[in-house]
Amino acid sequence: MQIITTKESLQQAVAACKQAGQTIGLVPTMGALHAGHASLVHRAVAENDICIVSVFVNPTQFNNKEDLAKYPRNIERDAELLRGIGAHFVFAPTPEEMYTAEEMNSTFSFDFNGLDQVMEGKMRPGHFNGVVQVVSRLFYLTQPDKAYFGEKDYQQLAIIHHMVERSSLAGTFGSLQIVGCPIVREDSGLALSSRNERLSPAEKETALGISRTLFESLKWAKEADATVKEVEQRVVDAINAIDGLEVEYYEIVDQSTLLPTDTFSHAIGCVTVYCGPVRLIDNIKYA
Ligand code: AMP
Repeated sequence: MQIITTKESLQQAVAACKQAGQTIGLVPTMGALHAGHASLVHRAVAENDICIVSVFVNPTQFNNKEDLAKYPRNIERDAELLRGIGAHFVFAPTPEEMYTAEEMNSTFSFDFNGLDQVMEGKMRPGHFNGVVQVVSRLFYLTQPDKAYFGEKDYQQLAIIHHMVERSSLAGTFGSLQIVGCPIVREDSGLALSSRNERLSPAEKETALGISRTLFESLKWAKEADATVKEVEQRVVDAINAIDGLEVEYYEIVDQSTLLPTDTFSHAIGCVTVYCGPVRLIDNIKYA
């Protein structure tokens, strides 16, 4: 496994793979890797000749500077995990390597057809612009056949699907296929997240209330006459009743449009909860 830190070396490595007729799978990450990331990498290794994993804490997608500063980083441990899985290249650039000073502060904005106006997009202005800025650059640099994203970040996955569908019209990303992968959870139910590293053991125990409530809500949705609005409110109330948790939003939306829905069919509930200072996200599909 080779660790690459410059765009130029990455493009050279990619050109050599392409010349040899090898297919490329890309897994974009921000590092502090766990079994959730590993599931994407395993799949990319299995389904492609070459697997490239990017490890880059992208500053342009953080609207909260403290969150950026506190984001966990451990490239040695990440490299060890990736070597064990059989990844071929790790791309770990510095922010300065990825962006010019102008790009770092750019205020350009993509058109997401409204997908960015709800939930995470509403709470973190500019977040998805930063995500698409980095992901499109990674696609350009690595020319992947397949790129892997987790359903843990469901709205991000929907937006990237949208971006590729739109731009493939213009042939930008060729036949790139976006592969969505299921959420990996601890046995306790807690969705794995790099941010869990910032939780104390007691907070981690408290955070279990999030997934427990989401799973419980599957039963509430099956109760006779249950409405989407009632279930939404019940989830918010149940999580807020747990000492140490505070819901930022819980929205049950259509899985494709991410717009509010009044039926549980093809619906997904997306939640963001503060556990102390740590912002955690999770989601559950109703049908
Ligand atoms: P991140 O490093 O948080 O940007 O995540 C990199 C990729 O891993 C994203 O596509 C995430 O959706 C995915 N991911 C993160 N946590 C999980 C998880 N628990 N299960 C599945 N995929 C995940």
